[in-house]
Amino acid sequence: MMNNRLHIKVALIDMDGILYDSMPNHARAWVQVMRHAGIEARPEEFFLHEGCTGAWMIDHKIRERYGRPATEAEKIELYALKKKFFMEQPPVSVMPGARDMVRELQRRGIITVLVTGSGQNSLLDRLDRDYPDAFPATRRVTSASVTHGKPHPEPYLRGLDLAGVSASEAIGVDNAPLGVMSSHAAGLYTVGVVTGPIPEAELSHAGADVVYNSMIECAENISRLLDKQ
Ligand code: CA
Repeated sequence: MMNNRLHIKVALIDMDGILYDSMPNHARAWVQVMRHAGIEARPEEFFLHEGCTGAWMIDHKIRERYGRPATEAEKIELYALKKKFFMEQPPVSVMPGARDMVRELQRRGIITVLVTGSGQNSLLDRLDRDYPDAFPATRRVTSASVTHGKPHPEPYLRGLDLAGVSASEAIGVDNAPLGVMSSHAAGLYTVGVVTGPIPEAELSHAGADVVYNSMIECAENISRLLDKQ
């Protein structure tokens, strides 16, 4: 419960599937990468594992198919290929409702911090334009910032470090079960948002304190949620 918690000062916000409607493109790019590596895969698998690092995903699929860990060279080569295939997908849109949520948080004086497992520069480079003043370079946790991807708490804990606040002063916003688990494990009040094929119950089960069914619904309710404390 957010009751009896300290005043919320910071929002730690995931990128893919929250700020950008980018997950279908990521899933398609991963399927192409796996085909290149001789591995048949379905797009749904990548929604299920959303939030893990690229290196983890590659290692997981190589182990599954070939019964051995991925080599460092494979991780580097296949992740570079993933970025290339992602760039070749149709343009990514800003997630409807996400700008309204970020503006509302900014209006309330809440510090916004990016917490993503991604290293996709084609999206990271758009943040300043699409979300002005929300995610400066000093307030970004990316794949380069952490050893462990989601569901490990490290990404969200790193976000708390960057903002210089404790878990009781922040909320996490994420759309994927692994992301919600990471935020929950970091001790954050966690807002889950359904923006893809993963059902609401999966986010609750992963530890979300509240679940919205779109970023539009999240934007409409975020102020009321923060007022409740
Ligand atoms: Ca996500």
